[in-house]
Amino acid sequence: MVRHIVDMEKCRGCGKCVEACGLELWVLQEKEDGKKFAQVTEEAAEVCHLCGTCKEGCPEQAIVIIDEG
Ligand code: SF4
Ligand code: SF4
Repeated sequence: MVRHIVDMEKCRGCGKCVEACGLELWVLQEKEDGKKFAQVTEEAAEVCHLCGTCKEGCPEQAIVIIDEG
């Protein structure tokens, strides 16, 4: 199982990860205060092929990908 952890303190909802992923696994969500953040749902994460493009493309270094096997 692959998990995509986003540091909520760092993420500013820029959407670069959404654009970067060729499999379109990322979506932007909105918090109650209207601020956006990026997320990969558990379902979507199942097809992630660990290319790392989203992580590399994040200007805030907010993404950590964990491969739990
Ligand atoms: S690229 Fe980084 S800062 Fe931008 S939405 Fe994605 S996780 Fe957040
Ligand atoms: S590691 Fe690659 S396939 Fe997985 S979410 Fe990031 S860009 Fe998409």
